[in-house]
Amino acid sequence: MSSTPQPVASNFIRNIIDADLASGKHASIVTRFPPEPNGYLHIGHAKSICLNFGLALDYKGRCNLRFDDTNPEKESEEYARSIQEDVQWLGFQWHGQVRWASDYFEQLYEYAIDLIRQGKAYVEDLSAEQMREYRGTLTQAGRNSPYRERPVEENLDLFTRMRNGEFADGSKVLRAKIDMASPNINLRDPAIYRIRRAHHIRTGDKWCIYPMYDYTHCISDALEGITHSICTLEFEDHRPLYDWVLDNLTAPCHPQQIEFSRLELHYTITSKRKLLQLVNEKHVSGWDDPRMPTISGMRRRGYTPEGIREFARRIGVSKSDNSVDMAVMEGAIREDLEARVPRVMAVVNPLRVTITNFDGAQAREADFHPNHPEFGKRVVPLGKELFIEADDFAELPPAGWKRLTPGGEVRLRHSYVMRCDEAVKDATGKVVELRCSIDHDTLGKNPEGRKVKGVIHFLSCAHALPAEMRLYDRLFTVPEPDAGRDVDFCTHLNPTSFTLVQGWVESCVKDAAPETRYQFERLGYFCADRREHQAGGKLVFNRTVTLKDSWAKEHN
Ligand code: ATP
Ligand code: MG
Repeated sequence: MSSTPQPVASNFIRNIIDADLASGKHASIVTRFPPEPNGYLHIGHAKSICLNFGLALDYKGRCNLRFDDTNPEKESEEYARSIQEDVQWLGFQWHGQVRWASDYFEQLYEYAIDLIRQGKAYVEDLSAEQMREYRGTLTQAGRNSPYRERPVEENLDLFTRMRNGEFADGSKVLRAKIDMASPNINLRDPAIYRIRRAHHIRTGDKWCIYPMYDYTHCISDALEGITHSICTLEFEDHRPLYDWVLDNLTAPCHPQQIEFSRLELHYTITSKRKLLQLVNEKHVSGWDDPRMPTISGMRRRGYTPEGIREFARRIGVSKSDNSVDMAVMEGAIREDLEARVPRVMAVVNPLRVTITNFDGAQAREADFHPNHPEFGKRVVPLGKELFIEADDFAELPPAGWKRLTPGGEVRLRHSYVMRCDEAVKDATGKVVELRCSIDHDTLGKNPEGRKVKGVIHFLSCAHALPAEMRLYDRLFTVPEPDAGRDVDFCTHLNPTSFTLVQGWVESCVKDAAPETRYQFERLGYFCADRREHQAGGKLVFNRTVTLKDSWAKEHN
């Protein structure tokens, strides 16, 4: 079964850990997942979560959840709550309490004082624009600021007054004194504190200065005893700064930063900022719209934690490009669902059938899953009036057609063999009803003297329940919607990524709780909507994924 844990393939990070444990550098490992609570988590974060929490589980170590909350204007409680929920839904639990970088604000401040005392940090009076000018470029060294050689006492005084709110926002920053000529721009006296009067979700209005990410992150890691600080490749050039800060302070330990490549999933985007734009501009119904690559969107669509974890396992961890086709994601989900969800019948585009020789024919019991009798059975009722899928009938069938056609026969799934005797049309020539007859001698056995190849799904009109079916397609029409610099990625939105249809389902799903998953035979996997589906009431199903990967065939 696909949901049993698969063996973990080795990767360069595991090799580093193995070596550190073998050499005695560490007795056990501590990792962390450090999101900024400025949006909902997406599939890229899921990769990082599976990596960090997965390593801790495999090596019997620990993984912390730490919010990197150094940007008060963009952060919210809602985001922080959703992130915790998503991590747990994916099947992971952080060690101990949730941690916040803001828990360390006082210590971070003390460390900054320490740097100033050592002559390794100074208060800058240049404006942001002047600082940019002094910083130089990739090919040109920067220049020292006129404030760089301020005496320690003056820096201490100014920094204290920054904290006390004596200066306007943006009028001063505290900078690390490293090297304005460094080929690595991150080392050209980076700002480590800025003045910002913003209400913080945890510390309220206690602070008007906030530490910068690079300064905060390494110290937070060290304070938590992180052994391996795993992040994405864009931080590779920041590693010398990570190390500089810890080397120049009396930090409790010096974690090793290790970078891996970001996941880029085709036909979608993995950037919180852009996902926020989709939400704000109402291109989607919210962060958990089932088309969103957010964890909450994928959950609502019906993806399983096991399927997402399997996807993360398959894509692996390395430093090379990790652009992955959506088919890989969908394949992992489909395989996980195949063995674990019951199968029932539904019709999304109904064509009415009248069985002219119906005489109260027998209904049959059918298993919910061909390989899992323990899932149970239900009765599949038959009636005089049926719904079949409109595209299971063709008046002029193409070669090789196995479904219904005038004069032809098909097997009704779990029921009788049925022949189409007549197609009834409306004034425009559209087929609006089929008149058919069943062979009463075919329940549970093959008809005499002929072979019937096609099997179609159906519902008895008198027994079926109406259901809202939400069919989803890819959110974008191109593999890399945000690749172009000159076009807004929203121009590549797929106008038909969402189709709402009124369909019908077997009545056995009537009391299904929200988030119950089914295979609707031949149509795909579906999940009762978390928000709008009501057990015993309005039935709303989201199509999670189709049964086969037909996307490339249909779109190329
Ligand atoms: P975004 O660009 O979407 O805002 P981020 O990197 O700014 O993402 P954080 O909240 O800072 O978001 O990320 C938390 C962790 O998740 C970081 O360690 C980051 O490296 C990792 N992460 C973010 N995006 C991806 C991705 N696409 N693939 C793998 N890991 C990712
Ligand atoms: Mg970030």
